[in-house]
Amino acid sequence: MKKRIVVLGAAESGVGAAVLAQKKGFDVFVTDMGLIKDHYKQMLDERNIVWEEKQHTEELILNADEVIKSPGIPEDAPMVLKIKEKNIPIISEIEFAGRYTNAKMICITGSNGKTTTTSLIYHIFKNAGYNVGLAGNIGRSLALQVAEENYDYYVIELSSFQLDNMYQFRANIAVLLNITPDHLDRYNNNMQNYVDAKMRILQNQTEEDAFVYWADDPIIQRELNKYGIKAQICPFSIIRKEGMIGYVADGEYVINTPIAFNMEQEELSLTGKHNLYNSLAAGISAKIANVKNEVLRQSLSDFEGVEHRLEKVARVRGVEYINDSKATNVDACWYALESMTTPTILIIGGKDKGNDYTAITDLVKKKCVGLVYLGADNTKLHQFFDGFGIPTVDTHSMKDCVEACYKMAKPGDTVLLSPCCASFDLFKNMEDRGDQFKQLVRSL
Ligand code: ADP
Repeated sequence: MKKRIVVLGAAESGVGAAVLAQKKGFDVFVTDMGLIKDHYKQMLDERNIVWEEKQHTEELILNADEVIKSPGIPEDAPMVLKIKEKNIPIISEIEFAGRYTNAKMICITGSNGKTTTTSLIYHIFKNAGYNVGLAGNIGRSLALQVAEENYDYYVIELSSFQLDNMYQFRANIAVLLNITPDHLDRYNNNMQNYVDAKMRILQNQTEEDAFVYWADDPIIQRELNKYGIKAQICPFSIIRKEGMIGYVADGEYVINTPIAFNMEQEELSLTGKHNLYNSLAAGISAKIANVKNEVLRQSLSDFEGVEHRLEKVARVRGVEYINDSKATNVDACWYALESMTTPTILIIGGKDKGNDYTAITDLVKKKCVGLVYLGADNTKLHQFFDGFGIPTVDTHSMKDCVEACYKMAKPGDTVLLSPCCASFDLFKNMEDRGDQFKQLVRSL
């Protein structure tokens, strides 16, 4: 009898997993408590894959041999608990897809910088002429690509939720950028549970694999002692010190494996301290995969960056406008401000997730010549920043906000949208916020 696979959640990863499972001869059933998007329904129908939406029919689920769960569904969702009670194995889409490909896997995780680093590695591999797919949280699911393409390499962005349900999967190159508190609501408010999920990126690695990590992260350092790491370890730092495979010193970006590589820090296309980490992680990964020095140099200097992350929008009457709408927490804004080299007008505000702005106080005082508050309710911003002696403007729409910036800015200034907050009070999401900003700036 055919083995039965049930897919819980029918978005990008779930539908990809269903397509692959069907191709591999399983009896497949897809179920989603919400509405399934039309184009996913169409993909399932075209392949005669049975699905349901707005419900979970127990009899059709609890007879599964294995369940593939979308990363968005929490571990304590009622149906997940029932599946666990029945001892039916639950895996992630990445785990499932990994069984059906011999491609080399480059996997990137961390609390911040995943999308940037993943996109940069993909850019370098493409420039090197490698047959490579981009997967995970970005673009098409790994499972769908394994079903329909035949890549030699995959560059995969992995969230902690994806890592949670991975067991046999092996990363040939594992990149761990940093670990800071995030998503604790999904980990019983226990930081160690979140840390353990991130460290799963190491599991199953062998002597032939590589582990690339930020050496100065105190949590990573502490955790490493707990694991007998078999992979070749490749630490990086922005300080030159013993044992570093990648570092920055005296304005030089250096990678020491296996053939030395260096270039001027100024030639790197990504700016800001955080992007030095990301560029080091990407460069080390590329060198491990034998990318030639000239290709790496070219790629690190012509990478255009990722939309909504310190994205240069336009220069209008001598003023630079930068979109960092993805900066939805204070830490991300800290890195953005830190990278500013000209007087800055900061656009800040939105849906506050209990922010403590103390971390950016010094940088705001040092770099900002204006603050434009943008939110449905700006009270907390007034209370915190008004006493700094920096001109402020109160706005409640992107149109008013961009106009206020335009009036305030002098030639040589930078206007930076790096709001520290989520966008849901005034916008659909952070992309909508960034898109509106860009459109209004371009029509100034
Ligand atoms: P992720 O995919 O992990 O959310 P992104 O690459 O989308 O990360 O970047 C999100 C935000 O985090 C950016 O706005 C940026 O300012 C900040 N950031 C990027 N890389 C790092 C890093 N290595 N360390 C700390 N913050 C970072």
